[in-house]
Amino acid sequence: MLRFNRQAAGYLATLAACFVVAQVGGWTGFAGQVDGVAYDVMFRLSPPATKALGSVILAIDENSLKELGGMRKLRGALAEALERIAPEKPKAVAVDLVLADPSDAAEDDRLEEAFAKSPHLVLASDIVDGPAPGTTMWESPIEQFRRHAFAVGHVHAAPDPVCRQLPLEKAVRRDRRWALAFEALRGTLKDSAVLETPEALEVGHLRIPASRATARAVYIGYPAPRPDGQSPIPHISLKQLHDDPALAARFKDKVVFVGVTAQTAARDRLMTPYGAMMTGVEIHASAYESLSAGNFLEPAPDIAVVAFSLLLAAAAGAVFHFRYGWQAYVLGGMVLVIAHLTPYLLFAGRTVFPYFAPMSVAWITVAGAASYQHFVVRRRLVKSETESARYQQAIHFVTHEMKTPLTAIQGSSELMTRYNLNDEKRKQIAQLIHSESRRLARMVETFLNVERLSEGQMELKHEPFPVAETMLACVERARPLAERKRIEMRLEPLPDVTLTGDRELMEYAFYNLLNNAIKYSPAETVVTVGGDADKQRVRIAVRDQGIGMDEKELHQIFRKFYRTKRAEASGEAGTGIGLTIVEQIVTHHGGTIHVDSAPGKGSCFTLLLPLAGAGAAA
Ligand code: ADP
Repeated sequence: MLRFNRQAAGYLATLAACFVVAQVGGWTGFAGQVDGVAYDVMFRLSPPATKALGSVILAIDENSLKELGGMRKLRGALAEALERIAPEKPKAVAVDLVLADPSDAAEDDRLEEAFAKSPHLVLASDIVDGPAPGTTMWESPIEQFRRHAFAVGHVHAAPDPVCRQLPLEKAVRRDRRWALAFEALRGTLKDSAVLETPEALEVGHLRIPASRATARAVYIGYPAPRPDGQSPIPHISLKQLHDDPALAARFKDKVVFVGVTAQTAARDRLMTPYGAMMTGVEIHASAYESLSAGNFLEPAPDIAVVAFSLLLAAAAGAVFHFRYGWQAYVLGGMVLVIAHLTPYLLFAGRTVFPYFAPMSVAWITVAGAASYQHFVVRRRLVKSETESARYQQAIHFVTHEMKTPLTAIQGSSELMTRYNLNDEKRKQIAQLIHSESRRLARMVETFLNVERLSEGQMELKHEPFPVAETMLACVERARPLAERKRIEMRLEPLPDVTLTGDRELMEYAFYNLLNNAIKYSPAETVVTVGGDADKQRVRIAVRDQGIGMDEKELHQIFRKFYRTKRAEASGEAGTGIGLTIVEQIVTHHGGTIHVDSAPGKGSCFTLLLPLAGAGAAA
């Protein structure tokens, strides 16, 4: 279980941010393009099942236009072809030409006659700009033809560089028209009534998953192309039929799509998911084939896409929360593989699942979770490294400090055993050993206290002690060090007040300041100790004439293990934890510490401590 601490909250926030970024990215145009390309790849890998085709294209190709008299003579040529086909009883005839204007009256009459004989004639209409600016209107076949039509359909495809979908419905204001291919399909059915629900169209025994929200768009299940890349739907041109009337038999019981395939005349060429260009009439015939096959690709509901993305983000989060190292990376990789494969597996099951959103959610959350955990682990490592370094320094410090009393004890005991000393001397030496070992014990005690103090495990003693006396004791202890460097210890009057707190720790702090003042001063200088008090607090100052510190160093000296370059150069620098401890002790007593210093000008350390009862921290 996630423990709800700050770290877990940070982790969750990171994951949530990654998720949101990826989701928002999924709504961009770029994501749409990626989804499109992925769709095409999956479409080619898993094309719709092939079945017997029910349509034939009556193609107006280059040859037909040339030989039969060009576009001007087209209507007559078309009439001739349709008249030849009619006796073969095609199921429907869909004409992908917008016959919106009358032409040569004789030709129109002839075409009308042919239309009248064509079963389930479907004519085409198109949306064009209306007379008033900004309006649109239907461009429909002239009434002469229209009255013979079973239906008038629209010939719009989805305006995308690659034609993947066909909107079954198009409307100009209240005048709604079905797609040409759908009308042709209705023409083949006994009961052509359409039942409309918000999610689908039902006609005959077919349920077409075309939602009202998307203009009833359906994915076109283009039949797989032949090995030469051409559409598998048979083409017979006007010219071929003109030359060989027996070809009419090929239209028997078929749905006929009539349209221009000539390179020079066909305006409506679009790319298919197979990567080939296709003319409008071929696209309509393909759409008819996919509608009549009833094998539809359905878009996955939005909620499922979001749920799947959430699942991926959660999986990425869980993987990097519960596992470390290579295990986490392998599992993270599996999350990515799932994100990449799922859309394809679903596609094979005829569900169109967006590719970009789940994929980017998986990548971004896996990367986010991995880097978050990486940095957390690193931070922990750095922390434990500094802790162990600190510990080593502390040990170093103690052993170093212990050397002086130990040397004294060792030397004295040696004296006692080697030489025959009189009682007087013996007593002196025994006293020295006693006082040094007590000092040693006190040191160990102090050190342990300080360790516990910084861990926050120690309760401070809360007893009164006289400031002046404590200070004087420290000065006496430091005097031998000063004498060695011929440094004068100048005592100014000390306030005769009583502090409340831990005397031993406070002594440690005072002594440390004196020790530093002596250490970081050249020989034959003066260290001054003084102070004063009012009702509230006592001020104690230790001033030296030593090497001093600059502004930048002053900010650092209370950090553990920090030593100034100047101090290191003087050869006196210690472990750099003394002042850290002093500051801790002073703060635990509710006081503050201030330093005034300039390089080469000496330093003055001032302690301000509250007097008994004046807000001392427990
Ligand atoms: P250290 O064991 O190094 O003396 P401290 O924590 O007591 O550790 O002091 C930290 C650093 O602060 C010292 O290394 C030294 O650079 C600087 N410092 C402390 N006291 C003085 C002083 N009186 N004059 C100049 N520099 C000082």
